[in-house]
Amino acid sequence: MTHQVHIIGGGLAGSEAAWQLAEAGLSVRLSEMRGSGETTAAHQSDALAELVCSNSFRSDDAENNAVGLLHAEMRALGSVIMAAADAHKVPAGSALAVDRDGFSAAVTERLAAHCNVELVRERIDALPASGSTIVATGPLTAARLAESIGAATGADALAFFDAIAPIVHRDSIDMGVCWMASRWDKGETKDYINCPMTKEQYLAFRQGLLDGDKTEFKEWEASTPYFEGCMPVEVMAERGEDTLRFGPMKPVGLDDPKTGRWPFAVVQLRQDNALGTLWNMVGFQTKLKHAEQVRLFRTIPGLEQAEFARLGGLHRNTFINSPLLLDAALRLKAAPHIRFAGQITGCEGYVESAAIGLLAGRFAAAELRGEAIAPPPPTTALGALLGHITGGADAVSYQPMNVNFGLFPPIEGRMKKANRKQLYTERAREALATWLA
Ligand SMILES: Cc1cc2nc3c(=O)[nH]c(=O)nc-3n(C[C@H](O)[C@H](O)[C@H](O)COP(=O)(O)OP(=O)(O)OC[C@H]3O[C@@H](n4cnc5c(N)ncnc54)[C@H](O)[C@@H]3O)c2cc1C
Repeated sequence: MTHQVHIIGGGLAGSEAAWQLAEAGLSVRLSEMRGSGETTAAHQSDALAELVCSNSFRSDDAENNAVGLLHAEMRALGSVIMAAADAHKVPAGSALAVDRDGFSAAVTERLAAHCNVELVRERIDALPASGSTIVATGPLTAARLAESIGAATGADALAFFDAIAPIVHRDSIDMGVCWMASRWDKGETKDYINCPMTKEQYLAFRQGLLDGDKTEFKEWEASTPYFEGCMPVEVMAERGEDTLRFGPMKPVGLDDPKTGRWPFAVVQLRQDNALGTLWNMVGFQTKLKHAEQVRLFRTIPGLEQAEFARLGGLHRNTFINSPLLLDAALRLKAAPHIRFAGQITGCEGYVESAAIGLLAGRFAAAELRGEAIAPPPPTTALGALLGHITGGADAVSYQPMNVNFGLFPPIEGRMKKANRKQLYTERAREALATWLA
């Protein structure tokens, strides 16, 4: 099949871009190196749209949360990623979490079966010199292609750490000590396993994190900053005695049924697969050495006998300086036949990466059909995220960013925080409806 668009990378962004183009009637070559004998430091399968760490798409609340709003907008635009996520959701309170294997298998099946998609298992080593192209190779872009991107952009690629949280076998957790609950009883069910800590236990645990044996920095990693949203738990511990209690170990809204009170601190685990056999330690991404993780995490009440399906780890993240390099339609200014999509543009997260893939696919489709490219209004979640990446952000200090209401044009006037969120979402819904009409 000769193709009209070449997409490089079959992750969250590349899969969504391919779907949007294929559904618009354009033919796509989707090149994914996994399945050709290649892999990345984080992927574990050959499936498209593999979730490399958490199984959560975060809040699904479209009234009060920017990522929930982004979910809703993507659903309205026929997102294959959202359709597969909805079909494979697992209980997670007000969040949207998925069975990772079922989710990726569904995306793979739908794309492989689409008559406009040719899925090719191959590694691409250089940016194509011509032809409509979408580069969606993610934070772990293979080295040769990264070099080619560096040469084409003239800018140095940036790198920093992302860290993976450990996963525990459910049947090794002591439910005589832990209890099931969602914070403030939000959501219909009690979706999290909560491990309570006294003050003494918390202080000893924090000390263990500070003293624990850590993975050594490699030379090229030494000066790279962490993304705040994915900070290793031991780095949070270093920031202050209470930092963890205001972060992943926050006890507020979690009444321990044994005492009727909030504990001093809590470790939470969230369901990681449909069977409910695997649970991930929420916010416990770490660069502690594996043996140290097992020793220290087994001091957490209820996890004394914990068996780990996966331990935490560290990984590189590569992204380009999009505000400087890309135009408003995600095209490389220096080579406009090439678009970038996904985390390599400097957005952060599964949902945001898929959202930028969705836009790149639609923009490429419009261009090839000779239609004007109409970006979504900046008052929508899609438009706010796009605007940030393609010019709204400061190019000098550009860092990966999740979608949040801070990216939306402000609503003037004084009002309660809760009302403000609802005004943002109402305004976004109206703007999207007008844009789609
Ligand atoms: C270790 C780690 C943990 C993370 N944890 C989370 C998390 O918990 N939650 C979250 O929301 N986000 C997390 N992220 C970010 C996550 O990677 C992105 O949110 C999302 O996967 C990015 O989607 P993408 O499509 O841009 O890239 P990816 O999903 O990584 O897809 C890129 C694809 O391109 C392929 N590829 C790379 N180079 C080539 C090449 N030269 N030729 C052909 N194919 C190529 C890769 O094999 C891969 O399939 C994490 C990232 C890492 C690295």
